[in-house]
Amino acid sequence: MSKTVSAYAAPTAWGSDAPLTKTTIERRDVGPHDVAFDIKFAGICHSDIHTVAAEWGRPNFPVVPGHEIAGVVTEVGSEVTRYKVGDHVGVGCFIDSCRECENCEAGLQQYCTGDYGMHGTYNSTERDGSPTYGGYSTAIVVDENYVLRIPDSIPLDKAAPLLCAGITLYSPLRNWNAGPGKEIAVVGLGGLGHMGVKIAHAMGAHVTVLSQSLKKMEDGLRLGADEYYATSDPDTFTKLRNRFDLILNTVSANLNLGAYLRLLKVDGTLVELGMPEHAMEVPPMPLAGMRRSLSGSMIGGIPETQEMLDFCAEKGITPEIEVIEASYVNEAYQRVLASDVRYRFVIDASTI
Ligand code: NAP
Ligand code: ZN
Ligand code: ZN
Repeated sequence: MSKTVSAYAAPTAWGSDAPLTKTTIERRDVGPHDVAFDIKFAGICHSDIHTVAAEWGRPNFPVVPGHEIAGVVTEVGSEVTRYKVGDHVGVGCFIDSCRECENCEAGLQQYCTGDYGMHGTYNSTERDGSPTYGGYSTAIVVDENYVLRIPDSIPLDKAAPLLCAGITLYSPLRNWNAGPGKEIAVVGLGGLGHMGVKIAHAMGAHVTVLSQSLKKMEDGLRLGADEYYATSDPDTFTKLRNRFDLILNTVSANLNLGAYLRLLKVDGTLVELGMPEHAMEVPPMPLAGMRRSLSGSMIGGIPETQEMLDFCAEKGITPEIEVIEASYVNEAYQRVLASDVRYRFVIDASTI
């Protein structure tokens, strides 16, 4: 039977006078291929804020954000083989895709090119056209092919942020072959950035953090960074010139890309992971000068997300989190906007 569950939603464009508020939503009947689970924890990603603040265009309100979801299976459909009641599972940024284009076939569902396309966990639609609602809620029903298995050794509150922040950094680190001998810079020590430091360190790379100030330096070094610099200090950009093989930019605001491109060595790549509201200028000189590349990367596919979860379990990598009650969500958003997050807020769904 379809089920009414509690949730937090943005009824209209979010702002200090238009907060997320408590509401109820419907979850569909459990179909033959579906997994239903009780949400235990949901991470707060900066993309949730970009979306509800209508910075990426006007979403379909009400929006129930949340695409870092971890919970416990309560019911499975008759055809489900991979999961059973009681299993620890997660859902990330998408709940469906066309399943037949070459990218879906290759496990790169996030880059689905089929007519049906990748369907987001929120602000998108289910197969029947009804809206998708995300993880700031108490339960969800998702096709088993888009559900991840959370290894037993990772507690559910710490597993949640891996479903977006974790995979968004793991995927480019793997794609650009992070490992021993590689010089990697992570720009921005927030939710994404701190996972990048931990994962790149575990892969054996030399890791440098480029943060706005040195306020979080002690944390950065503890999390696995070898070096730490403030981007507010102009010397940083002369000292580190031509230094990196790979720069992962996780900043949620516009940067002077030219200044960062100049920090790459010949054939180095700057990967854009942050998704600020406005376009950034790309000066041609620093690109051409050292045959540098500018690229981007978006989350990861289902197989790679599972690989990342298993990698984190094996290496003992978990995010640094601050578990909050749902009623604190609007304040948490303000703190994320002020770069005052250490390093991911996670909503305890039992408080919704
Ligand atoms: P976050 O926790 O807010 O971290 C962003 C960090 O960027 C901040 O902690 C801060 O680090 C730095 N920063 C913020 N404003 C800045 C400014 N004006 N100038 C310079 N640095 C600034 O956000 P997040 O959840 O990690 O997400 C980061 C971005 O990635 C967002 O735009 C989000 O939408 C995007 N995202 C992309 C993907 C993808 O698939 N590509 C997935 C998830 C999220 P310091 O204090 O260290 O400077
Ligand atoms: Zn996200
Ligand atoms: Zn597809």
